[in-house]
Amino acid sequence: MDLERFKELHAYFSQKDLPREALESAEYNAYSDAMHENEDCYNWATTEKLKKKGFDYQNYCCLMMADNVDSSLDDNGEIRYGAVDVIINKWDEGLFGIPIHDGGTSMVLINYCPWCGEKLKK
Ligand SMILES: [Zn+2]
Repeated sequence: MDLERFKELHAYFSQKDLPREALESAEYNAYSDAMHENEDCYNWATTEKLKKKGFDYQNYCCLMMADNVDSSLDDNGEIRYGAVDVIINKWDEGLFGIPIHDGGTSMVLINYCPWCGEKLKK
């Protein structure tokens, strides 16, 4: 799928409360596949989402890191400790870590981005 077609589909499928038929359509499957498999589509959609939220994505090594750090925060910008869908944490001191979901606050500190491999700045 080319990016222009993806943008058209995104305008429709990114709305809230779509009817079930829309989410079961072949077009939705194609849109969803492009989001996950086409880097241009993923980058465009993720940039749009982070821009809209006012998230400072340009200060991250890559969009995957920016998107996952954004997902780790609540509406007040605080880390969602204990949320099992959080896979990366970033602290104000510039430290990054992978939370261990064992009910405590343990994490594995990391020095390199797990997605792009860049050394993480402190
Ligand atoms: Zn990265």
